Amino acid sequence: RAKATGGNRLQVYNEDIRQSSLEQLRLEQDLRRALDAGQIQVHFQPKLDLHTGLLSCAEALARWEHPEEGQIPPSVFIPLAERTGLIGQLGKLVLRIACQQAASWYQAGYNIQVAVNIAAQQVESGHLVEEVSQLLDELALPARLLQLELTESTLMEDAEAATLEMQNLRARGISLAIDDFGTGYSSLSYLQHFPLDILKIDRSFLMSENAQTTEGTLTRAIIALGHGLGMQVVAEGVEDEDQLVVLKELGCDYAQGFVISRPQPAELLEGLFAEQKKKL
Ligand code: C2E
Ligand code: MG
Ligand code: MG
Ligand code: MG
Repeated sequence: RAKATGGNRLQVYNEDIRQSSLEQLRLEQDLRRALDAGQIQVHFQPKLDLHTGLLSCAEALARWEHPEEGQIPPSVFIPLAERTGLIGQLGKLVLRIACQQAASWYQAGYNIQVAVNIAAQQVESGHLVEEVSQLLDELALPARLLQLELTESTLMEDAEAATLEMQNLRARGISLAIDDFGTGYSSLSYLQHFPLDILKIDRSFLMSENAQTTEGTLTRAIIALGHGLGMQVVAEGVEDEDQLVVLKELGCDYAQGFVISRPQPAELLEGLFAEQKKKL
């Protein structure tokens, strides 16, 4: 009996694996096709400058509308792209769309910096600086209007190569941010070795109601750490007004989150940008 159960369990387990790897394979093929057909979209989520009250930056976020399955979340297709080597192509596409958008906003007279998420493989490729430089030249986009977001794990994969790449990007005038700060496992000492301009506090550290809570203490400490190292600090995942008030009190430089705006197609943000330009 025990044997039979074990056998069954094994069968079920195998069936699960077979199913999920088939699904993975299918999804991989679909993603490949979507990339070739240019079916990856980019939405933008603005960041609010807490000192001036102006929207000054927007993060580019990849979106994939699958013809049958609808929206596939980035938490599914980004890791898939990373596992299958498609992230290079995807990253390139997002970078291009984001820079085109930045150039078009620049030409329209909006002073909006665009931030793009960069995967480890893009840094490792050794072509990032060249790729970005070419885009800036081609689009006549000032480098100060481009920001690249890197995560701790991306930086740690080959810290030496990453540092070199980052120095070159920075020399070109591009700003560099560390994304999801605080969610990695490496020691803090790495922070002073990388040439970084911006620190993005992961939303898991955001306080619920007031600055007196544990999360408030952590947020305060991370802001001090970032400022101490000469970085500007962004809080991500800000969902309510109270958090905004507290972040401002704590001297945080920028806020990004649903309370300000969800990630949206670029056209929908233009109204907001135009409105604030009128007020200037
Ligand atoms: P991320 O770079 O940390 O981006 C912020 C994520 O938080 C986005 O999720 C955004 O929609 C979400 N978010 C923003 N405000 C709020 C809020 O107030 N509450 C909550 N609950 N969430 C909020 P999204 O678009 O699903 O992207 C998830 C992750 O996928 C990104 O995290 C980034 O790591 C990755 N990703 C997205 N696009 C790209 C890309 O083009 N290239 C690479 N390499 N990674 C990307
Ligand atoms: Mg990001
Ligand atoms: Mg993040
Ligand atoms: Mg994230």
